[in-house]
Amino acid sequence: MQRILIVEDDMQIARTLRDYLEVAGFHVTALGDGSAAIAASRGHKPDLIVLDLGLPGMDGLDVARELRRTSTVPIVMLTARGEEADRIVGLELGADDYLVKPFSPKELVARVRAVLRRANGTVAGAEVLRAADIEVDLPKMRARVSGRPVDLTPTEFELLTTLVREPGRVFTRGQLLDALRGVTLDTYERAIDAHVKNLRKKIEPEPGRPRYVLTVHGVGYRFADA
Ligand code: CA
Repeated sequence: MQRILIVEDDMQIARTLRDYLEVAGFHVTALGDGSAAIAASRGHKPDLIVLDLGLPGMDGLDVARELRRTSTVPIVMLTARGEEADRIVGLELGADDYLVKPFSPKELVARVRAVLRRANGTVAGAEVLRAADIEVDLPKMRARVSGRPVDLTPTEFELLTTLVREPGRVFTRGQLLDALRGVTLDTYERAIDAHVKNLRKKIEPEPGRPRYVLTVHGVGYRFADA
């Protein structure tokens, strides 16, 4: 049974989400405190973390930053309306997806499933893809740059896979979002920029002058085809 850790100080929301996720077949732990969540995630190794950004004490962004220092565990953020800047920071810290309150618990379950599908490689396939100096091993969920392994979050891995599958093809941000989600609910296209920025930091020798993941101005991105 896959384990979900919910970090949310609003007990009513936490309880509702826990109920829905349990009905969906997950084992759920809920905590209302960021430092406790970090300790728990190191101990129990959840398969996914649902993380509210507005927490008392250590806030959600600090929690995400701390988690990402040592772990690529999938993170779905919960944000309040109007926290757009935080959402982008969260994605730049490596969160995989986010939901804006108020949202339906069913929507959360759908997002959690989509992110876990990505994390488990069930949408990925069975091949090893190669383009430029990048190798993407789908069955093993591993990526290498010039033979050097890089640690990618499920979102970064899926993004790289999508681009490397069709070098040279121009993807709009919306198309990349579709490829990542499996479910298209809102199309917040700047999310893609944040994921691309993270991916570049990990795979590009000079992230400021990318050689693999190229920007197509006014449109989106493409993987270098030569
Ligand atoms: Ca809160």
